[in-house]
Amino acid sequence: MKKIKENTELEKKADFIRKRLVEVAVENGAGHIAPSLSCVDILILLYYHILNIGDDPEWEGRDRLVFSKAHGAYGLYAILADIGYIRQKDWDTFYQTSFLKGCAEQSLQHGIEAGCGSLGHGLPMAVGIAFGAKLRRKEYNSYCIVGDGEMQEGSNWEAVQFAVKQQLNHLIIIIDCNGLQAMDSLEEVLSPMDSYKDLSCKFNAFGCKVIRCAGHDMAELKRSFEEIRTYKGNQPIAILAKTTKGYGICAIENVVKFHFRVPTAEELAMGVRYGK
Ligand SMILES: [Mg+2]
Repeated sequence: MKKIKENTELEKKADFIRKRLVEVAVENGAGHIAPSLSCVDILILLYYHILNIGDDPEWEGRDRLVFSKAHGAYGLYAILADIGYIRQKDWDTFYQTSFLKGCAEQSLQHGIEAGCGSLGHGLPMAVGIAFGAKLRRKEYNSYCIVGDGEMQEGSNWEAVQFAVKQQLNHLIIIIDCNGLQAMDSLEEVLSPMDSYKDLSCKFNAFGCKVIRCAGHDMAELKRSFEEIRTYKGNQPIAILAKTTKGYGICAIENVVKFHFRVPTAEELAMGVRYGK
């Protein structure tokens, strides 16, 4: 599989994926565009630069990526189509006749490690994968992308406790910190302070190595992930990526009601960040 080294090329690829994501989702009437857009840059860096994966999605030695915020999977689908893990036709018809649903379901042959429709389950699975790798002395990493709102689920913190206790330093948790959850801000729902600071304090207190970064800055994202490559400690890693929900479509960025609403042609005409 061809890796991309240059930041400008990674950014170009991110723009291409954002464009495709919006085109296909709008055409097929699929909501959840905003939560899909906040993690596109993270997914781009992982799939085209960081992950040790090959042409065979089921290669035993591959790095595993569990996409836990599974309703925001449109960017993941667009990437899997781009790298050839799924057929273009299946992506073009997603949410309609395709096997690809609104929430990602497990399909190892297509590179989808786990079905995570109900939030709070992906991270425990990623911890299990990391623990299994450690027991069998395998070298692959277990990555997990979770939503910041999703971290309110208690099952995640049980999983983190276990990962810390077992010193699973091949577990990398990436938190898509867009500050919003479904129909409100994290502060309005459960965070007792700024939600980014709150999550940072909690991951620290639980015993993870915490890395903070800007989730739409390719250079900073890359530095953060490359820092892990030289990490020699025993703690699981939590990368807190500060993102914007709906990133790429000006009319929907950080606007709560667009959690599931499909933007209209007029709203799209108000400006996009990925070129026409
Ligand atoms: Mg969120």
